[in-house]
Amino acid sequence: MNSDKYDIAVIGSGPGGFTAAVRSSQFGARVVLIEKSFMGGTCLNCGCIPTKFLWQALKMKQKIQKSYEYGFKTFLEPIVFADIVAKKDKNISSIRKGMDLVLKSHDVTVVSGAASFKDKNTLRVLNDGNSTNIFADKIIIAVGTDPLIIKNLEFDRVKIIDSTDVLNLQKIPKNMLIIGGGVIGIEMATIFAGFGCHITLAERENKLLPNEDNEISEEIKKNLLRQDVEVLTECTNALDNLDNMDKYEKVLIATGRTPKGDLNLEKANIKITKNGFIETDEFCQTSTSNIYAVGDIAGKTLLAYTAQNEGAIAAENGVKGNSIKIDNSVVPQVVFAMPQSSSVKVSNFLNYKDIIFGKFSLTASSRAFIENERLGFVKCAVDKVTKRPLAFWIIGAHCDELVNTASQILKNGIKLSRETMFHPSFGESLFNAYEDAFGMCTEITRKKVK
Ligand SMILES: Cc1cc2nc3c(=O)[nH]c(=O)nc-3n(C[C@H](O)[C@H](O)[C@H](O)COP(=O)(O)OP(=O)(O)OC[C@H]3O[C@@H](n4cnc5c(N)ncnc54)[C@H](O)[C@@H]3O)c2cc1C
Repeated sequence: MNSDKYDIAVIGSGPGGFTAAVRSSQFGARVVLIEKSFMGGTCLNCGCIPTKFLWQALKMKQKIQKSYEYGFKTFLEPIVFADIVAKKDKNISSIRKGMDLVLKSHDVTVVSGAASFKDKNTLRVLNDGNSTNIFADKIIIAVGTDPLIIKNLEFDRVKIIDSTDVLNLQKIPKNMLIIGGGVIGIEMATIFAGFGCHITLAERENKLLPNEDNEISEEIKKNLLRQDVEVLTECTNALDNLDNMDKYEKVLIATGRTPKGDLNLEKANIKITKNGFIETDEFCQTSTSNIYAVGDIAGKTLLAYTAQNEGAIAAENGVKGNSIKIDNSVVPQVVFAMPQSSSVKVSNFLNYKDIIFGKFSLTASSRAFIENERLGFVKCAVDKVTKRPLAFWIIGAHCDELVNTASQILKNGIKLSRETMFHPSFGESLFNAYEDAFGMCTEITRKKVK
């Protein structure tokens, strides 16, 4: 049995673990990163990147089909979906190589294998029957989550599949039932309907994206209906209520995520919540003081960018002693439907009593005309007293980029001003919605006073 000693050991190479490893090394620590599967975690291999690649492929198809709007005469050959999937895999593998290079340049040692705790400073790493011990002063756990499985449902990975399986289908099914109308369900419905699969999307609550603003949920539903997706809400138990499962070629379960649980946490006295996530404080520290946990496994937001942020925080606290805290006061959300939607609001939004709203439709945006992307709107909430924006809800092309600007505006309490907005741009729509809150948008028709 081999053994080795490090300042920091990181378990898991997803966005949380990768960032934690590189940042720890940047602070001068001797770092080991342990990964049991592919470099990049859920995000790169079966999450953010593959879904957005397939979404982009669909967007490309639509652009080719609509190129006549710009005076082109083009013809789209029949699509071989397996070719698109192969391109996706090639891109993923290039990104993986890039990650390896970054880790190497920062002198991070990468060890393949599944880690579990022997005690609070010792990890046992198993790889192909070989066992190694790794000792570290500090350990950062970033092992992520798995797709949630519905109890008593035979999960055969052929007909009943999860979000990882669906991303590797080589052929578009004739039809597919998607259970779960959250972000993942909607993104898969959009992609697969766009490539010709008949989709039934079943959600337990009375609207898609149950926690999202009603107008955004409604607009997403409208756009899915435009894509011929059948949307069912209030399916309290979708599987019981749906009379005939035989009629579906595939059934995708997209009902949530569950924490990974094979780490022997009890050997290091690490406490977990009742749902199995690792308990952490605002420093990302667990109940055992030399051990931190970040990203999905800590169960706070289940997003790649918050995992990266927590990874950087845990690294700094681990190397230098606890000094920085998580600040989730402004966290944007994005859904890659067609078109995309995004939203961001200050976390104490409900404390504001005097809120005014403005709205700007993309049908009035000159850039939306130029890009032939006129579906959607920007809605803005403003504190009437200070005139500071408190929230943005955006649906439409490029809103995944716009929401970054919107988030910085909210985080820094900035009032919007015209001279900082390039014309013609989609970004102007943020300003126009903001001005509309005061009845002063110059780009739209005057509202009649009744
Ligand atoms: C379909 C889908 C689409 C998504 N789209 C987005 C998106 O657009 N934007 C976004 O922000 N988020 C998105 N997410 C969520 C995002 O992927 C996760 O929030 C993010 O990957 C979490 O990062 P992490 O570092 O916590 O864990 P992960 O990325 O899950 O990485 C954990 C890593 O730990 C490894 N590991 C686990 N156990 C061990 C062990 N015992 N020993 C060694 N290694 C171990 C795993 O193999 C894995 O590589 C999506 C998720 C899914 C499923």
